[in-house]
Amino acid sequence: MYRVIAHLDMDAFFASIEQRDDPALRGKPVIVGAPPTQRGVVCAASYEARKFGVRSAMPSATAGRLCPKGVFVRPRMDRYKEESGFILKIMADTGAVIEPMSIDEAYLDLSARCHGEDADASLLSCVPIARQLKERIRSERGLTATVGIASNKLLAKIASDFEKPDGLTVVSERDKVQFLRPLPARVLYGVGRVTEQVLLRVGIRTVGDLQDYSGDLRALVGSFGPKLKQFAVGEDDRPLELGDEVKSISGEETFLQDTEDRGVLRACLREQAAEIAAKLKRRRLAAHTIQVKVRYGDFTTLTRQLTVEEPVSEPKDIYRLACFLLGRQRLVSRPLRLLGLSASNLREPTAQQLTFW
Ligand SMILES: [Mg+2]
Repeated sequence: MYRVIAHLDMDAFFASIEQRDDPALRGKPVIVGAPPTQRGVVCAASYEARKFGVRSAMPSATAGRLCPKGVFVRPRMDRYKEESGFILKIMADTGAVIEPMSIDEAYLDLSARCHGEDADASLLSCVPIARQLKERIRSERGLTATVGIASNKLLAKIASDFEKPDGLTVVSERDKVQFLRPLPARVLYGVGRVTEQVLLRVGIRTVGDLQDYSGDLRALVGSFGPKLKQFAVGEDDRPLELGDEVKSISGEETFLQDTEDRGVLRACLREQAAEIAAKLKRRRLAAHTIQVKVRYGDFTTLTRQLTVEEPVSEPKDIYRLACFLLGRQRLVSRPLRLLGLSASNLREPTAQQLTFW
């Protein structure tokens, strides 16, 4: 039996749900998030709005400047989660083993359903399953998804980023090395902005440059070197992760003296955001959800969180979302005993995001 992995990614998930539910929004640049006149951030943007450079985690005011005709709508997270459940049920009907990655994407292991003489015939034998899956999502949920099919997670994910929206891309075993060659090195799992810079310094820009590199990658990227070399030729043996272990990264600080000094609180959040970003980077992850936690002198504890469609991993983005939560929710109405920050709903950053960064 050959291995067949599909990666399904819903197209502009939050904004598409809004456009489906309100026909007046169709074809318009929809920006899900706080209005530009308020201190707030963008949670998601429709393709029409993305053309203007609007991206999630951007301040709403910036989005309003970039896209003056943008239609701002409030996020309805419960609705998106509910929809995510419907999509998951449709995916489960394929009989695949599923690893949900986030609210709008998942890996499907279709190996048990494939047939064929060799690896590539097996991949192609799963194309009708993917077509049917996309068609059911369209007809039953009124939404589109992009699917990538390949022999492993690395390639399936790159394939699903390749032709959005409403795409279906198969990366065959025979063509995978050629397919990867022209793509920027950052499409590879684990190559973030820092690694990208390190590679650029020795002239490695594309995956092809990586394939051709004759030096020791360990000298550049440490223990990630051998894996990176394998990824560059489209090899990846990571299994689907089926456990639902708690995945979050957090930090908190108890103050020596209760404080409501904005400067102190901001410095504290900035430091926590930097630590969380560093941990995310080490695990090569990004977070969809940022939560702040405050505790007052009387030990009353409150948490507030925000979820964005394109996950964040940069310290400045995490910090901005945290400041926004703290400000909007008026959590600092009296001195704080403790301030905490956490990132959850973790997943790999998308190549698109890396481009944006
Ligand atoms: Mg998506």
